[in-house]
Amino acid sequence: MRHRPEYKVVIMGGGGVGKSALTVRFIHQIFVSAYDPTIEDSYRRNLNVDGITVALEVLDTAGTEQFMSLSSLYVRSGDGFLLVFSLTLLDSVAELHTIWEQIQRIKETTHGTAAAARGGGAGARAGAMGEKLERPRVPVVLVGNKLDLQHERQVGREVAVNLSRSWGGVPYYETSARKEINVAAIFEDVVRQMIKADAFASS
Ligand code: GDP
Ligand code: MG
Repeated sequence: MRHRPEYKVVIMGGGGVGKSALTVRFIHQIFVSAYDPTIEDSYRRNLNVDGITVALEVLDTAGTEQFMSLSSLYVRSGDGFLLVFSLTLLDSVAELHTIWEQIQRIKETTHGTAAAARGGGAGARAGAMGEKLERPRVPVVLVGNKLDLQHERQVGREVAVNLSRSWGGVPYYETSARKEINVAAIFEDVVRQMIKADAFASS
């Protein structure tokens, strides 16, 4: 399948939910118990998914989402998103709503415009013919992290599953950066979605 040389995944969510721990676990296969909360950094790694090797850029954001201008830059630059909350903090789920809405707002318009500008793509063609062809949604994975802290858990599985349904069925995973549970899986899932979205845009 045709695909781009590099995809960019942006990790977003509230402070302290484990964005950096997940990123560092994925990139370096280690768990960091203390990580500077202000660090925003990008990392590169190749990942093989279903026999396709893609180069990934992973942007670990610094939880400065309250500054919407910065947050919108993150969203614009990303091809796919891991939206992370902590299973041990109910408030961290609510923080994802604004991010999700921002992704929808920014990506719906930029996708549409790009397809129209190229004058091609299945979406643009279907639009021109007045049909509705379902474009794959923006690649997003919902991530509930700190699964290992069972005794501190505040967010039930059904709460997150309902949220993922309300977002049109985005995949939901429960992870532990500490115990290395589902860390590779969330990156693989978003990469699969990005490859698919890309194939659609160029079909
Ligand atoms: P960020 O602000 O979202 O980047 O959060 P960090 O990655 O810096 O993590 C905040 C704190 O939670 C740190 O002390 C991490 O070691 C800890 N942490 C992150 N992920 C996990 C996890 O899966 N399990 C446990 N027990 N602690 C975690
Ligand atoms: Mg961090």
